[in-house]
Amino acid sequence: MASINFAELKKIIEINSWTKNKEGVDRNGEIFAYWMEELGYTLTRYPREEIGDHLHLTSAYKDGKKLLLLGHLDTVFPPDTFEKFSEDEAWIYGPGVCDMKGGNYVALQALRTVHRKLGKIHNIDFLLVSDEETGSDDSKHLSAQLAKEYDCCMVFEAAGVHDEVVIGRKGVGTFFIDIEGIAAHAGNHYDKGADANREAAEKLLRLVALTDLEKGTTVNVGKMHGGIGANTISPKAHLTFELRYTSTNERDRVLAAIDKIVNTAYVDGTVSVLSGGIQRDVMQPTPEQAAFVEKINQRCNVTLPTEKRGGVSDANIIASQGVPTLDGWGPYGDGDHTVHERANKKSFEERIALVTKVFEHFLEGEI
Ligand SMILES: [Zn+2]
Repeated sequence: MASINFAELKKIIEINSWTKNKEGVDRNGEIFAYWMEELGYTLTRYPREEIGDHLHLTSAYKDGKKLLLLGHLDTVFPPDTFEKFSEDEAWIYGPGVCDMKGGNYVALQALRTVHRKLGKIHNIDFLLVSDEETGSDDSKHLSAQLAKEYDCCMVFEAAGVHDEVVIGRKGVGTFFIDIEGIAAHAGNHYDKGADANREAAEKLLRLVALTDLEKGTTVNVGKMHGGIGANTISPKAHLTFELRYTSTNERDRVLAAIDKIVNTAYVDGTVSVLSGGIQRDVMQPTPEQAAFVEKINQRCNVTLPTEKRGGVSDANIIASQGVPTLDGWGPYGDGDHTVHERANKKSFEERIALVTKVFEHFLEGEI
């Protein structure tokens, strides 16, 4: 197996690509787009002012299925926190080596191999977004819209510890409840007040009771504040909470219950307003996705290990558009989102070899 040119990867790893560093994210994107253009790809740029541009790189189109590759250009590291690339026998280290410049690089290397063999590539496009690490608030609309043009999708987040691909990810939503009560002197006019803090407590207990661990549903009220002082009935309270779920049934159950809890005043005289919502919908295993895995297994003569993860990625967005999606095509690594981030060299090489095969069979119309 030809060893990988990590010098090239080092070049993009050492460009700071913190989501809020537009210049750095764009620079990373430019280099990547240049490499793709060398393979005959056409760049469509979605310019953004505050964050990096999103890049859609498209190949020639022939009648038949279309495959979308998905990656993100940004990392979680502000300038001067973690910027160096290094390596030893078994690992490479640096910001984004597995999350997910390294993953993007797996896709690129596989495309290069295919291009070398066949001279051209068609029906395999690459979307690189710039804001995944802050929740894809901007790019999720673009990703969802472009997803509709594709028959299947491969996302290049890091592989599992045994090189698993990811077939399921929880959905996640963040919500806020603003509660208005009525202030009153706690000594003189106790009965004239409407206690926003008590209302918050009543709501909190009911919200967390929506958790169903067996079904993988969790509600966590991670932040609350309210009130003025010990001698005043609290006129205001605020709850921040998160919902995670593994099925659309559970999503709908909990959303309906949240509405009911918000719209019920457990303490007379309080009024509550809900804001926030679902950020990334659930990625649920589907029969179409299972068929996608089965075809890869047959054509590439492998048994792909699969896993579900609690954390979200942009795979959630594509999958929730009904597109069969598999995530975790990047190299195995660990320490992501910390200064110990590293990716395994052997896994890197194996991923490139496997993804190359997947692309070849896809181009032959067999996947
Ligand atoms: Zn990440």
